[in-house]
Amino acid sequence: MDKDLGNNSMETLCKTCSVQLEKIKNGGRFIDNKEILKTPKKVFTANIPLRMDDGTVEIIPAFRIQYNDARGPTKGGIRFHKNVSQEEVKKLAFLMTIKSSVVDIPFGGGKGGVKIDPSKLSESEKERLSREYIRHFHRFIGPEQDIPAPDVNTNEKIMGWMTDEYEKIKGKKLPGIITGKPLSLGGSKGRSYATSLGGAIILEEYLKEKDIGRVEVAIQGFGNVGSNLAKILHERGHKVVAVSDAEGGILDTNGIDILDLFKKYEKDGDLKNMEGSIEEISNKKLLELDVDVLVPAAIEDQIHEENVDDVKADIILEMANSPITTEADKVLEKSDKVVIPDILANAGGVTVSYFEWLQNISHEYWTEERVNKKLEDYMVRAFKDVLEISKKEGCGFREAAYILGIRKVLEAEKSRGNL
Ligand code: NAD
Repeated sequence: MDKDLGNNSMETLCKTCSVQLEKIKNGGRFIDNKEILKTPKKVFTANIPLRMDDGTVEIIPAFRIQYNDARGPTKGGIRFHKNVSQEEVKKLAFLMTIKSSVVDIPFGGGKGGVKIDPSKLSESEKERLSREYIRHFHRFIGPEQDIPAPDVNTNEKIMGWMTDEYEKIKGKKLPGIITGKPLSLGGSKGRSYATSLGGAIILEEYLKEKDIGRVEVAIQGFGNVGSNLAKILHERGHKVVAVSDAEGGILDTNGIDILDLFKKYEKDGDLKNMEGSIEEISNKKLLELDVDVLVPAAIEDQIHEENVDDVKADIILEMANSPITTEADKVLEKSDKVVIPDILANAGGVTVSYFEWLQNISHEYWTEERVNKKLEDYMVRAFKDVLEISKKEGCGFREAAYILGIRKVLEAEKSRGNL
């Protein structure tokens, strides 16, 4: 089991999440009593022997952390990355605890990780690793216990192998063990773009609240989240003027034809050499554009001390996890800019994962329309809850979302007699 994180650990965790927990001391009845959230409830580690294609065996460190299960089974993805560490998985499991609570789904928070560079693995090595992960951790996970999902460098296909391995070990069909599965194994309609749709719903709720109509948007990151968000916002009549991927970005002040861009991106795999009035720009310039809404949808720490003063957008919608550093967040807090935080903005993914789990355990499958309508209900309610706290406490959305999320976890702990 993991050792105690020590007195400052929560602050350290929350600094990484760009939140100063101390500030939300007075935000709720139980907020002061956050000791129980200082450590994860369960930490499982393994060193997985992986048979490589050339016959050699490599030992791969792997983790599964169940941070808090007061509100329900723990829920969170498994990432394959060369920088995975127990500390990182712990931080992400904590974030999942708060995110599930903010959108009010009956899950706790967990996370898994494997310290490996998957680009160096063949398909068969990847499959063996995925199956080995389940063989090592199957005793601790389960549809009513801890439910994994995809994360960085893991996908539908890997979730399919993991589901299959789990069902083979248990000797029965248990599709509720994992979400983000292929549709053929019980995946949910609408899951592939749920994070983006959730973000679009949250943004439009905010615009409605402020009586703002259509907006000009720049999106950093053209992967699953960024590209689907660009498409959804374009379809809803907003003007997406810039997008980027790791190689750089493009700008068209008249608005990019996103459907054309999708066709080109699918064919060429990059954003370069677009026709028309499109200018190629750097990622740095994209973050500094004078637009209504800036959407960091790529990786963490993109807005930091050195570039925060150059950000001109009025609204920042955090679709990536932790795209703003703590230092930059403090600067933004003092400005008149609005940050819609990751634990609210990108919670659509875990919400539809919950719907997938519901479909699996009830054996009743929903239409895409039903999934999207339910997602809207959950996201709108979460936005209204966060808005209400932000008004009542006179704080920003990030602090309000943390107050909401932490309060509900602590209420559940209290009902269990743990506080
Ligand atoms: P992805 O791998 O599909 O896409 C990432 C995109 O970011 C790619 O276009 C990549 O080229 C770009 N990118 C990478 N490094 C960059 C850099 N230095 N500068 C600019 N662009 C860069 O990942 P994704 O699933 O779209 O996830 C994006 C973010 O959203 C991550 O922070 C992820 O944790 C978060 N998130 C994703 C989901 C989900 O359902 N996929 C849910 C919640 C949060």
